Amino acid sequence: MEVVLRELTKKFPGRGRKNRGEVTAVDRMDLEIPDGSLVGLLGPSGCGKSTVLNLISGLLGPTEGRILFGEEDVTLLPPEKRGIGLVFQNYALYPHMTVKQNILFPLENLKGKARPSREEMLKKAEEAAKLVQIDGLMDRKPSELSGGQQQRVAIARALVKRPQVLLLDEPLSNLDARLRIQTREEIRRIQRETKITTVFVTHDQEEAMSISDLIVVMREGVVQQTGRPQEVYDSPDNLFVAKFLGTPPINVFCGRVRDHRLYIGEEAVLPADGVSDAEVYVGVRPEGFRLCETGPLSCSLDRVEVMGRDVSVISENAASVNAVVRSIVGAESGLTEALLSGPKGREVRFALVPHKVFLFDRETEQRIFRGEH
Ligand code: ATP
Repeated sequence: MEVVLRELTKKFPGRGRKNRGEVTAVDRMDLEIPDGSLVGLLGPSGCGKSTVLNLISGLLGPTEGRILFGEEDVTLLPPEKRGIGLVFQNYALYPHMTVKQNILFPLENLKGKARPSREEMLKKAEEAAKLVQIDGLMDRKPSELSGGQQQRVAIARALVKRPQVLLLDEPLSNLDARLRIQTREEIRRIQRETKITTVFVTHDQEEAMSISDLIVVMREGVVQQTGRPQEVYDSPDNLFVAKFLGTPPINVFCGRVRDHRLYIGEEAVLPADGVSDAEVYVGVRPEGFRLCETGPLSCSLDRVEVMGRDVSVISENAASVNAVVRSIVGAESGLTEALLSGPKGREVRFALVPHKVFLFDRETEQRIFRGEH
């Protein structure tokens, strides 16, 4: 089922007659979610992600704008008529019911013709349980399950009515690191198998990048960029998006363009063809540095962190906006030996990988340049 949001706005009223403190949680959001895709809604706390999900589910009504499921305008439909499945962060299972009873619950609540026979219900519950691989735990109570298993029950319960759209709000937040990775892969597998259009809310960029077909990055209710995860990472539209995606985060310098060359401090570090003279922010991904004795960018070595496959070289540069410059170089590059034994404060020189370097307007913070691949 394709889901389309048109100029969707949600305002929460403020207090008193003057409506002081009114919040625009979602601001004229346009989004097309292709049928069968998994979309990750991403952004810092308070950016409006959950509000978007609650608008799609019908738990909240929009102040303006429309929501379409396929051809049908569902803006005014109550949640139970939308054919959605919802999973929240706190699994919200009924503690006194077994796993089976929890999964059966949405079916038992159906009225009239929509209510399947008992036999059909049991079959559907069994299918949903199999899909999330908890069919061996049907007689347990939620308290007898691990966090990951509880979340699977919550997903099975959301799937049992075969929803047209599955909505997941921070479904992995309560799980420990290892289980988070396992469960997010599970969610991806289930989504691929069922082909249910799925919207997934998270503040964790790595989580969203790893499983989504499309990511939507939001800030203060406004969509900043929509695209495939790699595209958005490789071509961020603005500084906010560039900073939000990537671990370790992008390095930012104050720089300037003069005569089509990019300067950081006094050093001309890259050609910047087609860019007029301007003060800019320079974003350099950590993997965009090459250790090179004749490289144009000089930094002062702080420390080296060895992480197996990669080595992080942490250094300082007066033009850096962040406290340190964090670059990642392959452990195989022979230079690291010398670095590891080098004294703190020693000069390290880098060449920059052009397509890992972005320039942003100092005022608008919009991207104005990306180095050639
Ligand atoms: P988080 O990751 O912390 O859950 P979020 O991105 O999901 O954040 P929302 O919960 O959608 O953010 O909230 C968006 C904005 O709307 C916030 O500023 C929040 O304070 C405000 N807000 C949300 N619900 C209400 C409400 N019922 N009344 C007033 N303001 C609200």
